[in-house]
Amino acid sequence: MKNIAVVGVGYVGLVTGVCLSDLGNRVVCVDINEEKIEKLNLGKMPIYEPGLEDLVERNVRAGRLSFTTSYPECLREAEFVFIAVGTPEGVDGEADLRYVRMAARSIAEEMDHPLIIVNKATVPVGTGDWVADIIRQYRNGEVEFAVVSNPEFLREGSAIADFLAPDRVVLGSLDREAAEKVAQLYLPLRTTIMITDLRTAEMIKYASNAFLATRISFINEIANICEALGADVKEVATGMGYDARIGHGYLDPGVGYGGSCFPKDVKALSYMAEIKGRHPQLLRAVMDINDDQRRQIVRKLDQALGGLRGRTIGLLGLAFKPNTDDMREAPAAYIARMLESAGARVRGYDPVAGAVAGRVVPKVDLASDAYDLAEGCDALVVVTEWNEFKNLDLARIRDLMAGNVIIDGRNIYEPEQLKELGFYYRGTGRGYESA
Ligand code: NAD
Repeated sequence: MKNIAVVGVGYVGLVTGVCLSDLGNRVVCVDINEEKIEKLNLGKMPIYEPGLEDLVERNVRAGRLSFTTSYPECLREAEFVFIAVGTPEGVDGEADLRYVRMAARSIAEEMDHPLIIVNKATVPVGTGDWVADIIRQYRNGEVEFAVVSNPEFLREGSAIADFLAPDRVVLGSLDREAAEKVAQLYLPLRTTIMITDLRTAEMIKYASNAFLATRISFINEIANICEALGADVKEVATGMGYDARIGHGYLDPGVGYGGSCFPKDVKALSYMAEIKGRHPQLLRAVMDINDDQRRQIVRKLDQALGGLRGRTIGLLGLAFKPNTDDMREAPAAYIARMLESAGARVRGYDPVAGAVAGRVVPKVDLASDAYDLAEGCDALVVVTEWNEFKNLDLARIRDLMAGNVIIDGRNIYEPEQLKELGFYYRGTGRGYESA
């Protein structure tokens, strides 16, 4: 059993804290957001993540997990402190490190015994050294510390399973002994633990996310070519994926990647390259294709409806992906704004992200379920592939709608079946669609 502090109880911090406590450690989490801490102390989750509530409850009850707004309380017994604060997009795509700076400074000012500072946030290469400088500047006296980079690879929607069964754990530090101590925390997970230097560990995270985003933009480009040439991208991706050199993951065409990571991380990596005089042309193409993919949806609607002004469009799914309520960089928000500015009325339904969406896209009229959404719509767009959309009573949906257009941004329906039901159906990259 180790004593661990976690700074920031967002998607990464809360999952890290609860999973490390579930592995038998004593974890105290701190956040500057009083409302979040208050909620957690009342047993309420500030975010939606499958399985989270039960796991938090179990570990709080066992006395291994607690939440506070006080840094001294959080650090009192800690041997390790994980930094899991946000690193949002800043000016020109550069990562905004203000929360990391604040967290590092608070840790430095309050630490009174040796600490291993483990950075879980996705931070530009070189940030570990910069954090060490901040700690040296603000610490009281000569309290010893080490900085370890430990980038997180979990996916929202399956965050707990991903944390507890990762493909690998990456650790980077100039202090090998400190990295090995952090490695001990992960031994129960029985996974590959890679120890490297600080900058390389930071780069592994950006390179991994940029590569996954590249796969998505690649298959979206292939989807667009399929539409022009009469091929079915779903089958194409399946056929490609059987090749062991390629694999099946991240080859689903759609409405473009979104969320709190890929968009900002590709931009930040591109920015890092540019300020060093490099020309990240592939990363730029990945971002361009992604932007265009959202516009494609609007173009398809415009074509199908013969104009958007005065039309009512329903968005099936608002979160950036299923099983989360996260609306950061959600394609639905971009599509809604484009439709609104083209004069359409936009309605939306999401099984869990409705409340968050109400703040992000306030003009979108929220429906209580998919059938309520369909009522009076000229067209529906599948934006997020929630399971509950896959088995809708489509004949009922058709009868409720004013029009018959379905634009399937996630290819969850079978084109023939929908055409038989009387829909005008367009998927993504499935046969001659641009005609
Ligand atoms: P988040 O915005 O959900 O949570 C960040 C939390 O940090 C918030 O609760 C905020 O109040 C708190 N915070 C900010 N400043 C603080 C301070 N000085 N002291 C204490 N708390 C503070 O962010 P997230 O999605 O969990 O992402 C955190 C980091 O992990 C980012 O760098 C992100 O890129 C990376 N990451 C995220 C994911 C993901 O799926 N969300 C996956 C892998 C990596």
